[in-house]
Amino acid sequence: MKPSSPRPERHIDTLPNALAELDRLTARLAGQHLAIFLDYDGTLTPICADPAQAMLGEAMRARIAALASRACLAVISGRDTADVQAKVGLPELYYAGSHGLEIRGPDGFHEERAQDYLPALATARQRLMQALTGVDGVLVEPKRYAIAVHYRAAPEARERVHRCVEQIAAAEPRLRTSHGKKIIEIRPALDWHKGRAVEYLRGELPLPDGHIALYIGDDLTDEDAFAALGPADLGLIVADGEDNDRTSFADYRLPDVAGVGQMLEAIERTAAPAP
Ligand SMILES: [Mg+2]
Repeated sequence: MKPSSPRPERHIDTLPNALAELDRLTARLAGQHLAIFLDYDGTLTPICADPAQAMLGEAMRARIAALASRACLAVISGRDTADVQAKVGLPELYYAGSHGLEIRGPDGFHEERAQDYLPALATARQRLMQALTGVDGVLVEPKRYAIAVHYRAAPEARERVHRCVEQIAAAEPRLRTSHGKKIIEIRPALDWHKGRAVEYLRGELPLPDGHIALYIGDDLTDEDAFAALGPADLGLIVADGEDNDRTSFADYRLPDVAGVGQMLEAIERTAAPAP
């Protein structure tokens, strides 16, 4: 479902390039307390046909670690929390996996909110595996709170995959589908998404009033998070051309993962100490 927001919604191609306005943006963030929310796939690492291969580069890890010593940092992903936590490997961060359904952080922080949906997911998982296992180039990835079907390696199978996934999800009232780049997922039919996760974390993290939230993401599910930002916050969409022909609630665009690195480095140079 399309999020609603008081923020302006603009075509991605018309958003200003954040790298062209780096000085102005970092000046706006300088001396402020920051909450930084980062998506993983397509934002911190290039998207891979096999999601297991999307590893975080050492330079990006070092940048995130440096920034985490000066700002509150959370990674918000559709991956399982344990998966994204292991891939990033920095214990000082918060990790909101499964689009925020399970959140872990330092000092044993743990919040999980969809255990009731596990039996319905197990049923759907079994049916999807039966229906799609063996279809060339289609990857069924069971996750804790979702079943993802990837068809990046078989774009011609899109219609068949969508029809099959929609059918199986429709049979189970506790589940719904969500779409992304060459991926369709079955998820709990809960009013919970990356935007809710951002709002929840802003209430839980040790952040002072007046802090600025910065969210960087690349896909449709990140729009819920952009939509949840306030007027003083900053939303940056990584738009590499694959999915540019749509609107976004972000304020700026970044060209690619390397651009995200440049942005984070610039913020690290000017950010306030961690609250
Ligand atoms: Mg992404």
